[in-house]
Order: sequence, then C-alpha cells, then structure tokens
Amino acid sequence: MVPEFMPPSPAKPQSAVTSKPIINPFQQTAFFITVNHLKDLPDTPGPEVAFVGRSNAGKSSAINTLAMQNRLAFVSKTPGRTQHINFFSIDENRFLVDLPGYGFASAPVAVKQHWEGLVGGYVQTREQLRGLVIIMDARHPLKEIDREMLTWFTPASKPVHILLTKCDKLSRQVRIETLRYVQQELGKLPIQSSAQLFSSLSREGLEEAIAAISELLDGKK
Ligand code: GDP
Repeated sequence: MVPEFMPPSPAKPQSAVTSKPIINPFQQTAFFITVNHLKDLPDTPGPEVAFVGRSNAGKSSAINTLAMQNRLAFVSKTPGRTQHINFFSIDENRFLVDLPGYGFASAPVAVKQHWEGLVGGYVQTREQLRGLVIIMDARHPLKEIDREMLTWFTPASKPVHILLTKCDKLSRQVRIETLRYVQQELGKLPIQSSAQLFSSLSREGLEEAIAAISELLDGKK
C-alpha cells in the first residue's frame, strides 16, 4: 500500500510547532528481524517497546515519524508481513517492535486466531518488553478493541502510553476535550498509563512522544 502521506524528510529535524532542533534518539533505527511465531522471537537481552493499534490508525506513520525516516515501518505493510511482528533496532541494545494491526472485522477466523496467539503471547510473556504504545486515531479513541488490548496487557503490570494520532484533523477545542476524555477513562483502569496528542503530519507531540518512549525503554531519568 502506498501511503498518501509521508513524514517530513530526516534532513530537516525541525519541529513544526516550536522550530527548535529535536534531539532524537531514534534516528538511527533500522530494520532488524521479522517474526511470525513466538518461538522465533529474538534472544536479544536489551529492552524493547512495542507499538500496537487498529489497522489504519497511523501506527506505521508514527514509527516513521519517530525515527525521522520515510519508509522504515512500511516493511510491516509488505505482502506476507502484515501479520508478522517486526523488530527495529534503535542501537545495538534497544528495540522498537511493530505488532500487527488489529480490527480486521472481515478477516478469516484463522487469521484472527493467529493474531491473538502471536500478539497476546508476545505482550503477556515477553520479558524484554518494557511498555506498550497504543496508537489510536484521535477521532475514534478507545474503541472496544483498544479497551480489550488494555485489559489484555493489564496482568503484565507494565506501563502504556497512548498516541492519539492524526490530531491535525481536529480543532484545538476538540483536541483538548479528546485528550481529557481519554485520560479520564484511563484513570478508571488498573494500569499505569499516559496519553498525548500526536500528528505525523505536523509533528505535533513528537518531542513528548520521544520523551515518553525513552522513559519506557530506559526508565525515569
Ligand atoms: P497503520 O495501518 O496504523 O500503520 O496506518 P498508516 O500509518 O498506514 O496510516 C493510515 C493512513 O492515515 C494513511 O493514509 C496515512 O497517510 C494517514 N495518516 C497517518 N498519520 C497521520 C497523521 O498524523 N495525520 C494525517 N492527517 N494523516 C495521517
């Protein structure tokens, strides 16, 4: 699938909002390995943060924007790999993990079962996983399947950070209301969580996302 929108060139690491240069620890991120079975997960000791979300929520664009690269996460969209877990190395020790998207109402039962086994098994048992980033379209946050994912992840007792993507499509007022609503709903759940607005188009929220994901990976500084 060819995306209709590409993140800005990495040659200009400028924030559209502040125009301050951004120090981005994810700029050297590179494809590492693709995995279709839990037994094939890499034996890497370093910490990893995984990204998950409904198909089309903007997950690939968000990973590309974080890494300031145009095509990095679109490896996950190549035929035969859409239901795989894709690992990206930030450096020799740390990883970003792109989990296959969910929300395929018309998919065959076997595909759903494979997804549940792979993603469920990964989020619930992977020791290297430090936290989950859930991508939600800011216009449709906390759909039932998003809530299921939160429930699934709760027993792991690890933090979740939510990126409310495509916030450029909302007015200032609706952005504020959406973020408040999501934070209130998260506050009702027995899980350590945070949420923010994000746009791969305008790069709003990029610095906040970098800080939040770095904290998941490395702990509080
Ligand atoms: P994925 O299926 O979750 O990986 O979603 P994609 O990253 O492929 O994005 C789905 C669609 O939303 C594509 O057409 C993107 O161009 C568009 N998109 C993604 N992020 C943004 C954003 O922040 N703002 C806008 N306006 N469009 C976006």
